Amino acid sequence: MTGPLRRPFLKLAALALAAAALAAPARAQWNSGGPPRSPQALTVDVLDVGQGDSILIRSPEGKTALIDAGPTRDGAVQALKKKGITAIDLVVVTHHHLDHHGGMDAVIREFHPKYFLATDSSHTTQSWLRLLQTVKSENVTSVLPTAKPRRIELGSATLTVFPQPPEDPKSENDNSVGVRLQYGGFSMILTGDSEPPSRNWWLENCPDLLRDCSVLKLAHHGSHNGTDAPWLDMLKPELAVVSLGAGNSYGHPHSETLELLKRDRIPLVRTDEWGTISLVSDGSTWNLVSSSMLARRKAAPRRDAVVAGGEPTRGPSRSSSRRR
Ligand SMILES: [Zn+2]
Repeated sequence: MTGPLRRPFLKLAALALAAAALAAPARAQWNSGGPPRSPQALTVDVLDVGQGDSILIRSPEGKTALIDAGPTRDGAVQALKKKGITAIDLVVVTHHHLDHHGGMDAVIREFHPKYFLATDSSHTTQSWLRLLQTVKSENVTSVLPTAKPRRIELGSATLTVFPQPPEDPKSENDNSVGVRLQYGGFSMILTGDSEPPSRNWWLENCPDLLRDCSVLKLAHHGSHNGTDAPWLDMLKPELAVVSLGAGNSYGHPHSETLELLKRDRIPLVRTDEWGTISLVSDGSTWNLVSSSMLARRKAAPRRDAVVAGGEPTRGPSRSSSRRR
């Protein structure tokens, strides 16, 4: 189930969101047009940077964090300028692969972040060393993930950096930094390109940071090794987003990942189809925004979650387990 299934699934997800809006106007709305503007909102933009990751987080108080900077030198800078960004507080590079840090050098020079968070894994390339030089020459304070969770306040939103698994010298993907973003009842989990060894380590060592998220950024661009059943069973996301390039040579997202999401009736939105994906939350509701779709959904408790096909979502046993 490759191409033929993907688009209908996406359309069904959109229809389901619309159906929920009509059925429950107090909790959900269906609109078109631009994103809502509220000084009290948290905004997450999964930027369309092609085959790579770059995610911008803006707190209600205007604090900004950027997680990864895409594959190309200027792609992230251009996308950030389009969003009206003039300064960034914190930049994170999840791991030392170019599709995540290719644009970070330019981002640092342009937006002068105060903090740079990345691991000191031994995977090193010329471009990575150049980036470290820039961090130093621009006087950005380096921060390492630690063996314990690290809380970073972004105004009233919190970014919790997962404890870092022991370094895997063979798989840089498994050295990815993982974070949970929380703002009121809205949460999002991002773990770079993590594969089963590191995700299983987190499942074992910090399950409380993983449970019940609103939105999951699929690891490793939707690869079959970026998502598995135990991961989804713990996180129980209401929505999955994935950052990837159209027609990428890796075949992302893989059919195994799409099957798993279908199994759990988790809608998927993709940057290769949507362009930049924006999520806006006031802490009690959250919206998924694109130029053609805006849907408001309750953030917590999440009994009103909707699924592809427009039917009520999780069964009673699932719902109750989600609220523990
Ligand atoms: Zn990647």
